[in-house]
Amino acid sequence: MSPPPSIAIIGAGITGLTLATALRKTGAPVRILEQADRPGGVIATSEQDGCLLETGPSSLQLKSAAVEAFLHENGLQAHIRPANEAANKRYLVKDGRPVALPMGLLEAIRTPLYTIPQKLRVLREPFIGRPPAGREESLEAFVCRRLGRPFYTYGVSVLASGIYAGDPTRLSVQHAFPKVWNLEHRFGSLIRGTLGLRRERRRTGETPYRPRLLSFAGGLETLPRTLAAPLGEHINLSARITRIHRDRENWRVAWVDTTGEHTQTFAQIVLTIPIHHWAELPFDENTQTTLRNLPDVKYAPLSIVTLTYDRAAVGHPLDGFGMLIPLEERRKILGAIFGSTLFPENAPADRAAFNVFVGGMTRPDLAALGADAAIDLAHGDLADLLGITTPPRTAAHYPWPRAIPQYNVGYGRFLHALDQTEAQIPGLHFAGNFRGGPGLSDCMANALTLVGRLIGGRGPGVVRGTPGSRIAKERRPFGA
Ligand SMILES: Cc1cc2nc3c(=O)[nH]c(=O)nc-3n(C[C@H](O)[C@H](O)[C@H](O)COP(=O)(O)OP(=O)(O)OC[C@H]3O[C@@H](n4cnc5c(N)ncnc54)[C@H](O)[C@@H]3O)c2cc1C
Repeated sequence: MSPPPSIAIIGAGITGLTLATALRKTGAPVRILEQADRPGGVIATSEQDGCLLETGPSSLQLKSAAVEAFLHENGLQAHIRPANEAANKRYLVKDGRPVALPMGLLEAIRTPLYTIPQKLRVLREPFIGRPPAGREESLEAFVCRRLGRPFYTYGVSVLASGIYAGDPTRLSVQHAFPKVWNLEHRFGSLIRGTLGLRRERRRTGETPYRPRLLSFAGGLETLPRTLAAPLGEHINLSARITRIHRDRENWRVAWVDTTGEHTQTFAQIVLTIPIHHWAELPFDENTQTTLRNLPDVKYAPLSIVTLTYDRAAVGHPLDGFGMLIPLEERRKILGAIFGSTLFPENAPADRAAFNVFVGGMTRPDLAALGADAAIDLAHGDLADLLGITTPPRTAAHYPWPRAIPQYNVGYGRFLHALDQTEAQIPGLHFAGNFRGGPGLSDCMANALTLVGRLIGGRGPGVVRGTPGSRIAKERRPFGA
Protein backbone atom coordinates (compact mmCIF):
# COMPACT_ATOMS: atom_id res chain seq x y z
CA MET A 1 0.00 0.00 0.00
CA SER A 2 1.35 3.47 -0.86
CA PRO A 3 1.93 5.82 2.10
CA PRO A 4 -0.84 8.37 2.80
CA PRO A 5 -0.42 11.72 1.03
CA SER A 6 0.98 14.73 2.89
CA ILE A 7 -1.63 17.45 3.27
CA ALA A 8 -1.44 21.20 3.92
CA ILE A 9 -4.53 22.71 5.53
CA ILE A 10 -4.82 26.48 5.29
CA GLY A 11 -6.83 27.82 8.25
CA ALA A 12 -7.29 26.49 11.80
CA GLY A 13 -11.00 27.16 12.24
CA ILE A 14 -13.25 24.25 13.24
CA THR A 15 -13.07 22.89 9.67
CA GLY A 16 -9.27 22.84 9.52
CA LEU A 17 -8.91 21.44 13.05
CA THR A 18 -11.44 18.65 12.49
CA LEU A 19 -9.83 17.73 9.20
CA ALA A 20 -6.30 17.69 10.64
CA THR A 21 -7.35 15.68 13.71
CA ALA A 22 -9.13 13.03 11.62
CA LEU A 23 -6.31 12.88 9.04
CA ARG A 24 -3.68 12.37 11.74
CA LYS A 25 -5.58 9.25 12.84
CA THR A 26 -5.05 7.81 9.34
CA GLY A 27 -1.31 8.39 9.61
CA ALA A 28 -1.31 11.08 6.90
CA PRO A 29 1.35 13.77 7.43
CA VAL A 30 -0.56 17.01 8.04
CA ARG A 31 0.35 20.65 8.56
CA ILE A 32 -2.07 23.49 9.38
CA LEU A 33 -1.00 27.00 8.44
CA GLU A 34 -2.99 29.63 10.35
CA GLN A 35 -2.43 33.35 10.08
CA ALA A 36 -3.86 34.22 13.53
CA ASP A 37 -1.97 33.61 16.77
CA ARG A 38 -4.67 31.24 18.07
CA PRO A 39 -6.63 28.31 16.63
CA GLY A 40 -10.44 28.25 16.41
CA GLY A 41 -11.28 30.86 13.76
CA VAL A 42 -14.54 32.58 14.70
CA ILE A 43 -15.01 30.50 17.88
CA ALA A 44 -14.09 32.63 20.90
CA THR A 45 -15.25 32.70 24.53
CA SER A 46 -14.67 35.66 26.81
CA GLU A 47 -15.21 36.31 30.50
CA GLN A 48 -17.34 39.28 31.45
CA ASP A 49 -18.75 40.14 34.87
CA GLY A 50 -18.14 36.59 36.15
CA CYS A 51 -19.98 35.12 33.13
CA LEU A 52 -18.60 33.13 30.21
CA LEU A 53 -19.91 34.71 27.04
CA GLU A 54 -19.47 33.62 23.44
CA THR A 55 -18.31 36.36 21.09
CA GLY A 56 -18.79 34.25 17.93
CA PRO A 57 -20.94 31.09 17.71
CA SER A 58 -22.88 30.51 20.91
CA SER A 59 -23.62 26.78 20.83
CA LEU A 60 -23.11 23.62 18.82
CA GLN A 61 -26.19 21.85 17.48
CA LEU A 62 -24.88 18.30 17.13
CA LYS A 63 -26.59 16.85 14.05
CA SER A 64 -24.59 13.78 13.17
CA ALA A 65 -23.50 10.53 14.78
CA ALA A 66 -20.13 10.85 12.98
CA VAL A 67 -19.47 14.22 14.65
CA GLU A 68 -20.58 12.88 18.04
CA ALA A 69 -18.20 9.92 17.67
CA PHE A 70 -15.43 12.31 16.64
CA LEU A 71 -15.95 14.41 19.79
CA HIS A 72 -15.84 11.27 21.94
CA GLU A 73 -12.72 9.92 20.22
CA ASN A 74 -10.88 13.17 20.72
CA GLY A 75 -11.23 13.73 24.44
CA LEU A 76 -14.21 16.10 24.33
CA GLN A 77 -16.87 13.84 25.84
CA ALA A 78 -16.00 14.78 29.42
CA HIS A 79 -16.15 18.49 28.55
CA ILE A 80 -19.60 18.42 26.91
CA ARG A 81 -22.22 20.60 28.61
CA PRO A 82 -25.73 19.96 27.28
CA ALA A 83 -27.94 23.01 26.90
CA ASN A 84 -30.49 23.63 29.62
CA GLU A 85 -33.81 21.82 28.95
CA ALA A 86 -35.50 25.23 29.14
CA ALA A 87 -33.69 26.15 25.92
CA ASN A 88 -36.24 24.06 23.99
CA LYS A 89 -38.54 27.03 24.38
CA ARG A 90 -37.91 29.82 21.89
CA TYR A 91 -39.51 33.23 21.74
CA LEU A 92 -40.57 35.27 18.76
CA VAL A 93 -41.49 38.91 19.18
CA LYS A 94 -44.97 39.91 18.06
CA ASP A 95 -46.61 43.29 18.67
CA GLY A 96 -43.73 44.33 20.90
CA ARG A 97 -43.67 41.34 23.24
CA PRO A 98 -41.97 37.94 23.24
CA VAL A 99 -44.41 35.09 22.47
CA ALA A 100 -43.35 31.44 22.90
CA LEU A 101 -43.16 29.53 19.61
CA PRO A 102 -45.48 26.50 19.64
CA MET A 103 -43.60 23.26 20.34
CA GLY A 104 -46.42 20.78 19.66
CA LEU A 105 -49.76 20.43 17.93
CA LEU A 106 -51.81 21.60 20.90
CA GLU A 107 -49.64 24.69 21.38
CA ALA A 108 -49.83 25.34 17.63
CA ILE A 109 -53.62 25.33 17.79
CA ARG A 110 -53.62 27.66 20.79
CA THR A 111 -50.80 30.05 19.83
CA PRO A 112 -51.73 33.73 19.60
CA LEU A 113 -49.12 34.16 16.84
CA TYR A 114 -51.69 33.36 14.11
CA THR A 115 -55.44 33.87 13.64
CA ILE A 116 -57.76 30.88 13.08
CA PRO A 117 -57.98 31.47 9.26
CA GLN A 118 -54.17 31.71 9.15
CA LYS A 119 -53.89 28.39 11.01
CA LEU A 120 -56.43 26.79 8.69
CA ARG A 121 -54.42 28.04 5.68
CA VAL A 122 -51.57 25.73 6.77
CA LEU A 123 -53.90 22.75 6.30
CA ARG A 124 -54.09 23.59 2.57
CA GLU A 125 -50.33 23.05 2.23
CA PRO A 126 -50.51 19.45 0.89
CA PHE A 127 -52.65 20.68 -2.00
CA ILE A 128 -50.28 23.46 -3.15
CA GLY A 129 -48.40 22.58 -6.33
CA ARG A 130 -44.68 22.75 -7.00
CA PRO A 131 -43.08 25.88 -8.54
CA PRO A 132 -42.44 25.85 -12.30
CA ALA A 133 -39.47 23.59 -13.20
CA GLY A 134 -36.12 25.36 -13.00
CA ARG A 135 -37.30 28.24 -10.79
CA GLU A 136 -35.10 28.61 -7.72
CA GLU A 137 -37.00 30.26 -4.88
CA SER A 138 -36.00 32.41 -1.94
CA LEU A 139 -37.03 31.34 1.55
CA GLU A 140 -39.71 34.04 1.45
CA ALA A 141 -41.20 32.95 -1.90
CA PHE A 142 -41.20 29.29 -0.90
CA VAL A 143 -42.83 29.69 2.52
CA CYS A 144 -45.39 32.28 1.39
CA ARG A 145 -46.42 30.01 -1.50
CA ARG A 146 -46.72 26.86 0.60
CA LEU A 147 -47.88 28.14 4.00
CA GLY A 148 -49.05 31.73 3.54
CA ARG A 149 -47.44 35.07 4.40
CA PRO A 150 -48.39 35.26 8.12
CA PHE A 151 -46.65 31.95 8.81
CA TYR A 152 -43.59 33.33 6.99
CA THR A 153 -43.54 36.71 8.72
CA TYR A 154 -44.15 35.51 12.27
CA GLY A 155 -42.40 32.16 11.92
CA VAL A 156 -39.99 30.95 9.29
CA SER A 157 -38.55 34.35 8.27
CA VAL A 158 -36.61 34.61 11.52
CA LEU A 159 -34.68 31.43 10.69
CA ALA A 160 -32.87 33.50 8.06
CA SER A 161 -31.47 35.85 10.70
CA GLY A 162 -31.12 33.14 13.37
CA ILE A 163 -28.90 30.88 11.24
CA TYR A 164 -27.42 33.07 8.50
CA ALA A 165 -27.87 36.68 9.72
CA GLY A 166 -29.38 36.63 6.25
CA ASP A 167 -32.11 38.18 4.16
CA PRO A 168 -35.04 35.75 3.68
CA THR A 169 -35.92 37.40 0.38
CA ARG A 170 -32.50 36.44 -0.99
CA LEU A 171 -31.52 33.19 0.78
CA SER A 172 -32.10 30.18 -1.45
CA VAL A 173 -34.45 27.66 0.14
CA GLN A 174 -32.75 24.93 -1.91
CA HIS A 175 -29.23 25.73 -0.75
CA ALA A 176 -29.74 27.34 2.67
CA PHE A 177 -32.51 25.02 3.91
CA PRO A 178 -32.02 21.86 1.85
CA LYS A 179 -34.00 19.58 4.18
CA VAL A 180 -37.09 21.78 3.90
CA TRP A 181 -36.67 22.16 0.13
CA ASN A 182 -36.26 18.43 -0.27
CA LEU A 183 -39.58 17.67 1.39
CA GLU A 184 -41.32 19.44 -1.49
CA HIS A 185 -38.85 18.17 -4.08
CA ARG A 186 -39.36 14.51 -3.11
CA PHE A 187 -42.90 14.42 -1.78
CA GLY A 188 -44.58 17.52 -3.27
CA SER A 189 -45.49 18.89 0.17
CA LEU A 190 -43.94 19.69 3.55
CA ILE A 191 -46.69 17.91 5.48
CA ARG A 192 -46.78 14.88 3.18
CA GLY A 193 -42.96 14.84 3.13
CA THR A 194 -42.69 14.81 6.92
CA LEU A 195 -45.17 11.92 7.12
CA GLY A 196 -43.50 10.18 4.16
CA LEU A 197 -40.08 10.26 5.80
CA ARG A 198 -41.56 8.89 8.98
CA ARG A 199 -43.11 5.99 7.01
CA GLU A 200 -39.80 5.35 5.21
CA ARG A 201 -37.99 5.16 8.54
CA ARG A 202 -40.53 2.75 9.98
CA ARG A 203 -40.06 0.56 6.90
CA THR A 204 -36.26 0.60 6.97
CA GLY A 205 -35.97 0.56 10.77
CA GLU A 206 -33.69 3.58 10.59
CA THR A 207 -33.62 5.77 13.68
CA PRO A 208 -33.00 9.42 12.85
CA TYR A 209 -30.19 11.12 14.74
CA ARG A 210 -31.67 13.30 17.49
CA PRO A 211 -29.92 16.67 17.37
CA ARG A 212 -28.48 17.92 20.67
CA LEU A 213 -27.60 21.47 21.57
CA LEU A 214 -24.41 21.76 23.59
CA SER A 215 -21.30 23.63 24.58
CA PHE A 216 -18.25 22.64 26.60
CA ALA A 217 -16.91 23.28 30.09
CA GLY A 218 -15.14 26.62 29.82
CA GLY A 219 -17.24 27.65 26.80
CA LEU A 220 -17.18 26.77 23.11
CA GLU A 221 -13.52 27.71 22.83
CA THR A 222 -12.70 24.49 24.68
CA LEU A 223 -13.56 22.68 21.42
CA PRO A 224 -10.80 24.16 19.22
CA ARG A 225 -8.35 24.27 22.14
CA THR A 226 -8.81 20.57 22.87
CA LEU A 227 -8.50 19.62 19.20
CA ALA A 228 -5.46 21.85 18.66
CA ALA A 229 -3.45 20.67 21.69
CA PRO A 230 -2.46 17.19 20.41
CA LEU A 231 -1.75 18.60 16.93
CA GLY A 232 1.20 20.41 18.54
CA GLU A 233 3.97 20.97 16.03
CA HIS A 234 1.59 20.20 13.15
CA ILE A 235 -0.02 23.64 13.53
CA ASN A 236 1.90 26.75 12.59
CA LEU A 237 0.22 29.82 14.10
CA SER A 238 0.97 33.43 13.02
CA ALA A 239 1.94 31.95 9.66
CA ARG A 240 2.10 34.17 6.57
CA ILE A 241 2.14 32.11 3.41
CA THR A 242 4.63 33.60 0.96
CA ARG A 243 4.44 31.20 -1.99
CA ILE A 244 2.36 28.26 -3.20
CA HIS A 245 3.37 26.69 -6.46
CA ARG A 246 2.89 23.46 -8.32
CA ASP A 247 6.08 21.37 -8.46
CA ARG A 248 5.30 18.45 -10.81
CA GLU A 249 2.74 16.31 -8.91
CA ASN A 250 3.11 18.25 -5.66
CA TRP A 251 2.56 21.63 -4.04
CA ARG A 252 5.51 23.55 -2.72
CA VAL A 253 4.41 25.89 0.10
CA ALA A 254 6.59 28.56 1.69
CA TRP A 255 5.64 30.52 4.80
CA VAL A 256 7.07 32.76 7.49
CA ASP A 257 6.15 32.49 11.16
CA THR A 258 7.65 33.48 14.51
CA THR A 259 10.32 30.78 14.14
CA GLY A 260 11.50 31.91 10.70
CA GLU A 261 11.04 30.93 7.04
CA HIS A 262 9.90 27.45 6.04
CA THR A 263 9.22 25.48 2.86
CA GLN A 264 7.51 22.11 2.60
CA THR A 265 6.15 19.89 -0.17
CA PHE A 266 2.60 18.50 0.01
CA ALA A 267 0.55 16.22 -2.20
CA GLN A 268 -2.70 18.06 -1.40
CA ILE A 269 -3.81 21.48 -0.20
CA VAL A 270 -7.13 22.20 1.48
CA LEU A 271 -8.36 25.80 1.72
CA THR A 272 -10.62 26.21 4.77
CA ILE A 273 -10.32 30.00 4.97
CA PRO A 274 -13.16 32.42 4.14
CA ILE A 275 -13.70 32.97 0.41
CA HIS A 276 -12.67 36.65 0.53
CA HIS A 277 -9.17 35.60 1.66
CA TRP A 278 -8.56 33.26 -1.27
CA ALA A 279 -7.32 36.01 -3.57
CA GLU A 280 -4.59 36.90 -1.03
CA LEU A 281 -2.95 33.48 -1.30
CA PRO A 282 0.28 33.59 -3.33
CA PHE A 283 -0.64 30.90 -5.87
CA ASP A 284 0.69 30.99 -9.44
CA GLU A 285 -1.03 33.45 -11.80
CA ASN A 286 -3.36 30.83 -13.38
CA THR A 287 -4.68 29.52 -10.07
CA GLN A 288 -5.14 33.05 -8.75
CA THR A 289 -7.15 33.96 -11.86
CA THR A 290 -9.32 30.86 -11.44
CA LEU A 291 -10.00 31.72 -7.79
CA ARG A 292 -10.69 35.38 -8.59
CA ASN A 293 -13.19 34.41 -11.29
CA LEU A 294 -15.36 32.26 -9.02
CA PRO A 295 -18.90 33.62 -8.62
CA ASP A 296 -19.10 36.26 -5.89
CA VAL A 297 -20.40 35.17 -2.47
CA LYS A 298 -21.66 37.75 0.00
CA TYR A 299 -20.94 37.50 3.74
CA ALA A 300 -23.37 38.97 6.27
CA PRO A 301 -21.98 41.76 8.44
CA LEU A 302 -22.97 41.17 12.05
CA SER A 303 -22.15 42.54 15.48
CA ILE A 304 -22.52 40.65 18.72
CA VAL A 305 -23.18 42.76 21.80
CA THR A 306 -22.75 40.94 25.11
CA LEU A 307 -24.61 42.43 28.06
CA THR A 308 -24.89 41.44 31.72
CA TYR A 309 -27.47 42.61 34.27
CA ASP A 310 -28.50 41.81 37.80
CA ARG A 311 -31.05 39.03 37.40
CA ALA A 312 -33.48 40.95 39.63
CA ALA A 313 -33.48 43.87 37.16
CA VAL A 314 -34.95 41.70 34.36
CA GLY A 315 -38.75 41.47 34.29
CA HIS A 316 -38.93 38.45 31.95
CA PRO A 317 -38.59 34.83 33.24
CA LEU A 318 -35.86 34.18 30.60
CA ASP A 319 -37.16 30.61 30.40
CA GLY A 320 -35.89 29.80 26.92
CA PHE A 321 -33.09 29.83 24.37
CA GLY A 322 -33.71 33.43 23.43
CA MET A 323 -35.89 35.51 21.15
CA LEU A 324 -35.88 36.32 17.45
CA ILE A 325 -37.50 39.41 16.04
CA PRO A 326 -39.30 39.55 12.67
CA LEU A 327 -38.43 42.53 10.47
CA GLU A 328 -42.05 43.70 10.63
CA GLU A 329 -41.57 44.55 14.31
CA ARG A 330 -39.20 47.35 13.19
CA ARG A 331 -36.77 46.81 16.05
CA LYS A 332 -33.08 47.56 15.78
CA ILE A 333 -31.77 44.19 16.99
CA LEU A 334 -32.25 40.86 15.18
CA GLY A 335 -32.64 38.93 18.40
CA ALA A 336 -30.89 37.83 21.57
CA ILE A 337 -29.75 34.63 23.22
CA PHE A 338 -30.48 34.25 26.93
CA GLY A 339 -26.92 33.06 27.62
CA SER A 340 -27.36 32.57 31.37
CA THR A 341 -30.38 30.30 30.71
CA LEU A 342 -28.84 28.37 27.82
CA PHE A 343 -25.79 27.32 29.85
CA PRO A 344 -26.58 28.23 33.49
CA GLU A 345 -23.16 27.09 34.73
CA ASN A 346 -21.63 29.93 32.68
CA ALA A 347 -23.10 32.67 34.88
CA PRO A 348 -23.65 33.26 38.62
CA ALA A 349 -27.29 32.69 39.63
CA ASP A 350 -27.88 36.38 40.37
CA ARG A 351 -26.76 37.48 36.88
CA ALA A 352 -28.54 37.59 33.51
CA ALA A 353 -26.24 37.45 30.47
CA PHE A 354 -27.22 38.05 26.83
CA ASN A 355 -25.73 37.81 23.36
CA VAL A 356 -27.53 40.35 21.19
CA PHE A 357 -27.35 40.25 17.37
CA VAL A 358 -27.13 43.52 15.49
CA GLY A 359 -27.05 44.10 11.73
CA GLY A 360 -27.08 41.16 9.35
CA MET A 361 -28.00 41.38 5.67
CA THR A 362 -31.23 43.22 6.45
CA ARG A 363 -29.59 46.01 8.51
CA PRO A 364 -25.93 46.19 7.38
CA ASP A 365 -25.83 49.86 8.48
CA LEU A 366 -26.34 48.80 12.11
CA ALA A 367 -23.58 46.16 11.89
CA ALA A 368 -21.21 49.00 10.99
CA LEU A 369 -22.00 51.05 14.13
CA GLY A 370 -19.24 51.71 16.66
CA ALA A 371 -19.23 50.05 20.08
CA ASP A 372 -21.09 52.76 22.04
CA ALA A 373 -23.93 53.13 19.53
CA ALA A 374 -24.30 49.34 19.10
CA ILE A 375 -24.39 48.78 22.86
CA ASP A 376 -26.94 51.58 23.34
CA LEU A 377 -29.34 50.21 20.78
CA ALA A 378 -28.89 46.61 21.99
CA HIS A 379 -29.66 47.64 25.56
CA GLY A 380 -32.57 49.85 24.41
CA ASP A 381 -34.39 47.04 22.58
CA LEU A 382 -33.60 44.46 25.24
CA ALA A 383 -34.78 46.69 28.09
CA ASP A 384 -38.03 47.40 26.26
CA LEU A 385 -38.79 43.80 25.26
CA LEU A 386 -37.72 42.10 28.49
CA GLY A 387 -38.69 44.75 31.06
CA ILE A 388 -35.15 45.55 32.18
CA THR A 389 -35.07 48.40 34.67
CA THR A 390 -31.35 49.21 35.01
CA PRO A 391 -28.44 49.92 32.68
CA PRO A 392 -26.24 46.88 31.98
CA ARG A 393 -23.60 46.02 34.57
CA THR A 394 -21.16 45.36 31.72
CA ALA A 395 -21.29 45.51 27.94
CA ALA A 396 -18.95 44.57 25.09
CA HIS A 397 -19.13 44.77 21.30
CA TYR A 398 -17.70 42.23 18.83
CA PRO A 399 -18.01 43.27 15.18
CA TRP A 400 -17.89 40.60 12.45
CA PRO A 401 -17.76 42.58 9.17
CA ARG A 402 -17.96 39.31 7.22
CA ALA A 403 -19.59 36.83 9.56
CA ILE A 404 -21.44 34.14 7.59
CA PRO A 405 -21.51 33.29 3.86
CA GLN A 406 -24.92 33.80 2.28
CA TYR A 407 -26.36 30.82 0.45
CA ASN A 408 -28.47 33.13 -1.70
CA VAL A 409 -30.52 32.25 -4.79
CA GLY A 410 -28.01 31.21 -7.46
CA TYR A 411 -25.55 29.69 -4.92
CA GLY A 412 -25.47 26.54 -7.05
CA ARG A 413 -23.29 28.41 -9.59
CA PHE A 414 -20.62 28.95 -6.95
CA LEU A 415 -20.78 25.32 -5.77
CA HIS A 416 -20.56 24.07 -9.33
CA ALA A 417 -17.53 26.30 -9.98
CA LEU A 418 -15.83 24.88 -6.85
CA ASP A 419 -16.39 21.33 -8.12
CA GLN A 420 -14.94 22.31 -11.51
CA THR A 421 -11.93 24.02 -9.95
CA GLU A 422 -11.15 20.92 -7.90
CA ALA A 423 -11.42 18.79 -11.04
CA GLN A 424 -9.15 21.14 -13.02
CA ILE A 425 -6.46 21.65 -10.38
CA PRO A 426 -5.47 18.26 -8.96
CA GLY A 427 -4.64 18.28 -5.27
CA LEU A 428 -6.53 21.51 -4.48
CA HIS A 429 -9.61 21.19 -2.24
CA PHE A 430 -12.07 23.54 -0.56
CA ALA A 431 -13.88 22.94 2.73
CA GLY A 432 -15.53 25.28 5.19
CA ASN A 433 -18.73 27.02 6.09
CA PHE A 434 -19.26 28.08 2.46
CA ARG A 435 -20.00 24.49 1.43
CA GLY A 436 -22.48 22.06 2.98
CA GLY A 437 -23.86 24.36 5.69
CA PRO A 438 -22.47 27.09 7.99
CA GLY A 439 -23.20 25.45 11.37
CA LEU A 440 -20.34 24.07 13.45
CA SER A 441 -21.73 20.55 13.16
CA ASP A 442 -22.02 20.93 9.34
CA CYS A 443 -18.41 22.14 9.10
CA MET A 444 -17.20 19.19 11.19
CA ALA A 445 -19.31 16.60 9.34
CA ASN A 446 -18.09 17.85 5.97
CA ALA A 447 -14.46 17.87 7.11
CA LEU A 448 -14.84 14.24 8.22
CA THR A 449 -16.26 13.30 4.82
CA LEU A 450 -13.38 15.02 3.05
CA VAL A 451 -10.89 12.80 4.91
CA GLY A 452 -12.10 9.83 2.87
CA ARG A 453 -11.59 11.69 -0.40
CA LEU A 454 -8.13 12.96 0.52
CA ILE A 455 -6.74 9.60 1.49
CA GLY A 456 -8.59 7.74 -1.24
CA GLY A 457 -11.10 5.87 0.91
CA ARG A 458 -14.52 6.72 2.22
CA GLY A 459 -15.13 9.08 5.11
CA PRO A 460 -17.49 8.47 7.97
CA GLY A 461 -20.49 9.96 6.11
CA VAL A 462 -22.13 13.33 6.26
CA VAL A 463 -25.71 14.28 6.94
CA ARG A 464 -26.11 17.68 5.46
CA GLY A 465 -25.02 19.42 2.32
CA THR A 466 -26.27 21.42 -0.56
CA PRO A 467 -27.73 19.99 -3.74
CA GLY A 468 -25.35 20.20 -6.66
CA SER A 469 -22.20 20.18 -4.55
CA ARG A 470 -19.76 17.31 -4.46
CA ILE A 471 -20.51 16.94 -0.77
CA ALA A 472 -24.21 16.58 -1.57
CA LYS A 473 -23.53 13.62 -3.84
CA GLU A 474 -21.92 11.72 -0.98
CA ARG A 475 -24.38 12.29 1.80
CA ARG A 476 -27.62 10.61 2.74
CA PRO A 477 -30.82 11.92 1.17
CA PHE A 478 -32.12 15.23 2.50
CA GLY A 479 -34.46 15.09 5.39
CA ALA A 480 -33.31 11.58 6.17
C1 LIG B 1 -20.92 35.74 14.96
C2 LIG B 1 -21.15 34.31 14.54
C3 LIG B 1 -22.09 33.55 15.22
C4 LIG B 1 -22.30 32.21 14.85
N1 LIG B 1 -23.16 31.44 15.59
C5 LIG B 1 -23.18 30.09 15.38
C6 LIG B 1 -23.82 29.22 16.32
O1 LIG B 1 -24.35 29.65 17.35
N2 LIG B 1 -23.81 27.88 16.05
C7 LIG B 1 -23.20 27.36 14.95
O2 LIG B 1 -23.22 26.14 14.75
N3 LIG B 1 -22.55 28.16 14.07
C8 LIG B 1 -22.51 29.51 14.28
N4 LIG B 1 -21.79 30.31 13.43
C9 LIG B 1 -21.17 29.72 12.24
C10 LIG B 1 -19.89 28.94 12.56
O3 LIG B 1 -19.31 29.43 13.73
C11 LIG B 1 -18.89 29.08 11.41
O4 LIG B 1 -19.53 28.83 10.17
C12 LIG B 1 -17.71 28.12 11.57
O5 LIG B 1 -17.12 28.26 12.85
C13 LIG B 1 -16.71 28.38 10.47
O6 LIG B 1 -15.58 27.55 10.64
P1 LIG B 1 -14.47 27.45 9.51
O7 LIG B 1 -13.38 26.62 10.02
O8 LIG B 1 -15.11 27.02 8.24
O9 LIG B 1 -13.98 28.96 9.26
P2 LIG B 1 -13.33 30.04 10.24
O10 LIG B 1 -13.76 29.86 11.64
O11 LIG B 1 -13.58 31.35 9.58
O12 LIG B 1 -11.78 29.71 10.19
C14 LIG B 1 -10.96 30.07 9.13
C15 LIG B 1 -9.53 30.29 9.63
O13 LIG B 1 -8.71 30.66 8.51
C16 LIG B 1 -7.77 31.62 8.96
N5 LIG B 1 -7.25 32.35 7.81
C17 LIG B 1 -7.86 33.32 7.07
N6 LIG B 1 -7.04 33.74 6.08
C18 LIG B 1 -5.89 33.02 6.19
C19 LIG B 1 -4.68 32.99 5.45
N7 LIG B 1 -4.46 33.79 4.40
N8 LIG B 1 -3.70 32.13 5.84
C20 LIG B 1 -3.89 31.31 6.91
N9 LIG B 1 -5.03 31.30 7.64
C21 LIG B 1 -6.02 32.14 7.29
C22 LIG B 1 -8.57 32.47 9.93
O14 LIG B 1 -7.71 33.20 10.79
C23 LIG B 1 -9.40 31.41 10.65
O15 LIG B 1 -8.74 30.92 11.80
C24 LIG B 1 -21.56 31.65 13.76
C25 LIG B 1 -20.63 32.44 13.08
C26 LIG B 1 -20.41 33.74 13.47
C27 LIG B 1 -19.34 34.56 12.76
